[in-house]
Amino acid sequence: DEMDVDTIWMDGEYVDWDDAEIHVLTHGLHYGSGVFEGVRCYDTENGPALFRWEEHLDRLYESAKPYDMEIEFTKADLTEATKELISRQELPSCYVRPIAYYGYNSLGVSPSDCPTRTAIAAWPWGAYLGEDALENGIDVMISSWRKHASSQIPTNAKTTGLYVNSMLAGEEARRNGYAEAIVLNKEGNVAEGPGENVFLVRDDEIYTPGLSESILDGITRDSVIQIAEELGYTVHDDVSISRGELNTADELFFTGSAAEVTPIRKVDNVVIGNGSRGPVTEAIQQRFFDIVEGAPEEYDEWFEYVEM
Ligand code: PMP
Repeated sequence: DEMDVDTIWMDGEYVDWDDAEIHVLTHGLHYGSGVFEGVRCYDTENGPALFRWEEHLDRLYESAKPYDMEIEFTKADLTEATKELISRQELPSCYVRPIAYYGYNSLGVSPSDCPTRTAIAAWPWGAYLGEDALENGIDVMISSWRKHASSQIPTNAKTTGLYVNSMLAGEEARRNGYAEAIVLNKEGNVAEGPGENVFLVRDDEIYTPGLSESILDGITRDSVIQIAEELGYTVHDDVSISRGELNTADELFFTGSAAEVTPIRKVDNVVIGNGSRGPVTEAIQQRFFDIVEGAPEEYDEWFEYVEM
């Protein structure tokens, strides 16, 4: 395999990558009834470590709750399986994708007869939006699609079915020559990216949409809030941000486990600030990468070490 991976954990077994297949009448395939996570393992100065693994695991189990889904493995089981996958495949730095979903039995919308199945994969994955994006920023488009409202579907659960909205928004943006989208919520305020939270800098203070804005409670969002406060910035994390405020921001950036800290330099072809990575974004991004690469003692609880 060109990705240098050969194993996937499925329901308690380590199976060959190419054999990790499921029935075509799987409930989750037809109705989007899966919950998942995306986690990075960094090759830190103290060895390979999963970044904020505990918070990701907690969110996985919480995402399952509104769907009445009982994950048949404990958090300790999934932790052990993930570490084993990483060490077996010798992947000191990788992206980890745990998923739990309603499997195959009957095909009614009710999943009550369907087993809950669980799988974990890990593979090398570089900068989500490209190395250049981290340094120079990306151009984004305000999507013509709105986010699901949290009154329509739990947007704080990381559910597979939600991501057709992300796909529509992201692909619309890319068709129009942008790298990514920003998606507004039903009220018309800024929600988030297809797979990222959004931050705004104005007059050296930092703003990000509150949890009631129909967003995912991002773990990188939380990390960046803590990092920004450590650096002495005031962070407003419970606000509504209007579309117009994006254009007048000094700086904008995305956060996410995949996207890490990615500067945004244009929105709908309006140049943001100086049109490249701004100083506050750079300071936060620098500290973020120093932490994930260095695993300093003061952030020790953010790291789950993997024996290789
Ligand atoms: N919003 C959405 C819709 C996402 O898919 C993600 C990626 N999980 C995020 C925000 C960022 O969350 P996190 O920092 O926990 O990866």
